[in-house]
Amino acid sequence: MDIFCQAETVLKDVIIHRTDNFFVVHDGFPLVEGHLFLIPKFHQDCFLNMHKKYLREYEALIKMIVAFLRDQYQDPVLFEHGIIAQTIPHAHLHFLPTSKSILNVIKQVAIPMRKPKTPYLLYGKQGKITYYNVVNQIEPGFLHKTFAETLRRPIIAKERAIDAKKWMKNVKDKWDK
Ligand SMILES: [Zn+2]
Repeated sequence: MDIFCQAETVLKDVIIHRTDNFFVVHDGFPLVEGHLFLIPKFHQDCFLNMHKKYLREYEALIKMIVAFLRDQYQDPVLFEHGIIAQTIPHAHLHFLPTSKSILNVIKQVAIPMRKPKTPYLLYGKQGKITYYNVVNQIEPGFLHKTFAETLRRPIIAKERAIDAKKWMKNVKDKWDK
């Protein structure tokens, strides 16, 4: 059982919002304030494989998160490791409010797919999401680490956790308003 399957207990302090089947969570090793991710409450390997009965709820949440971040922070980049190089083997879609892009790095290891299939990297802003086929070796948490470098944040996750509590509280206050 992975940590996201136990979110209700293990991540209870960082859950920003919950619906019937999903949690919106503030990243515990955040890259910026407002770095959120979305997870299903049930175990699921990646979002592309998720049953379509959840899509309406899932897509409504994505819209809600993007609207919140646009309003309070910046238009977020969305990214997901679709089974490949996951740090936790449970679907999680990141929302990173930033104007920075890591597309040039992604293009060194992956090529866009016309028809999405697993394994994949998902990357882009809402309305401009692309699925990539990974053709070179990448390390676990590749997208997260690449953004850490780009944003000049500590590569070691534990060092990023120092900011998590304060940022999480700020976000929760704004979300609950
Ligand atoms: Zn799980």
